[in-house]
Amino acid sequence: MEGRQNILLDCGVKLKSKKEEFPLLENSQIKTLDKVILSHAHMDHSGYLPALYASGYRGKVALTKPTRDLIQILLADYLKINAGFAPYDDRDINHLLKNTDLLEFNEFDSKKQIRFQPAGHILGAAITEIFEEKKVIYTGDINIRDSRLVDGAKFSDLEGETLIIESTYGGKHDSHPAAKDSANTFIESIQATLQKNGSVIIPTFATGRGQEVLFILENYMRSGKLEKVPIYIDGMVKKMLKVYRHNAIYLKDEIKRRILTSDDDPFKSPHYQLPKSKDRRDVSEGGKCIIVTTSGMLNGGPVLSYLDNMGMNKKNKLIFTGYQAEGTPGRSLLDGSRILNLDNRKIELDLEIEQARLSGHSDHRELLQVVRAVKGLQKVFIVHGEGEKLIDFKKGIEQQAQKDKKQIEVIIPKVGETFEL
Ligand SMILES: [Zn+2]
Ligand SMILES: [Zn+2]
Repeated sequence: MEGRQNILLDCGVKLKSKKEEFPLLENSQIKTLDKVILSHAHMDHSGYLPALYASGYRGKVALTKPTRDLIQILLADYLKINAGFAPYDDRDINHLLKNTDLLEFNEFDSKKQIRFQPAGHILGAAITEIFEEKKVIYTGDINIRDSRLVDGAKFSDLEGETLIIESTYGGKHDSHPAAKDSANTFIESIQATLQKNGSVIIPTFATGRGQEVLFILENYMRSGKLEKVPIYIDGMVKKMLKVYRHNAIYLKDEIKRRILTSDDDPFKSPHYQLPKSKDRRDVSEGGKCIIVTTSGMLNGGPVLSYLDNMGMNKKNKLIFTGYQAEGTPGRSLLDGSRILNLDNRKIELDLEIEQARLSGHSDHRELLQVVRAVKGLQKVFIVHGEGEKLIDFKKGIEQQAQKDKKQIEVIIPKVGETFEL
């Protein structure tokens, strides 16, 4: 249609235990795209972007500078792990990186068509406002609370007819404890294991959660509430910590101040250590410690070596720090299994297993708060959620709208469905 623009919001890969899922995009659709927008660096949002260039897309990708820095490393790593199987190669990644359109928060692009607002969640994460005839707002992954490293989402001034919102914790029973309480419980649990001479393995996402966890540990050790033991940083967490440090200007004022005005740079804690041997025996045989490593849902990464070495010791503990998606090895452990079924082998486990209640996503009530704040809202599309949570959140929005005497249509789109705005 004349004047009509084809804009793609995020383009990721879904990482499951055995097979990845890619977006259902036809080559013909990819070629007619005018613009692509990336909300943040996580692979479930960014992982398929280079494939667009492999399929003939020649336009730009709008993103924030930290997001660009983060995906540069994440995509190269993905290619390395999936050598020969990835739907693109390093030329496509280069193509993408050469075609990025860097946007600062609260600044329009050259066509005055899009604007980003901070989404909390992780470094560089953005809410996208698209200024068309009817305005569309896309939350990406959103966290309205301040975390240890980034400020919460800025959503109170949003205005628009259509909202596309995530629903990871949209279920009616999804309610996060206060940040302080969840950090305290997390630390107490670690402390209990250290007291018994056990070690703690913390699988985590390389980007966002990993850094938050390190800062919690560092803080509590410094204040004396957590025993001072080595904190081993492994996998992509380490590389990403560097990107966080380079982009410190996008972090909370308090962190900036510590880096700029004092000698105690929180990124350079004396407790941080790196493993030395490939099989990580130096860590598992070196006395009690805390290990922060990828991958967060046990899909792969060094965490499996640690579980191999330390998983049968009852004194040790495994603490999940993030959402365990359906179909992942992490989820099966949380659901009670004590055997990790990997592609070519099994790992039996006898250590304690727990889930810490730390989150980079808003909960049910907070998501409703975001919906309520959007002025002039008529339509809500709920995405990025599983099963019942989508339905719970839809009901929540409808009840809230009724209370507020507002007419809001709530839609849970199916894959491949089209809507006229
Ligand atoms: Zn995310
Ligand atoms: Zn996500």
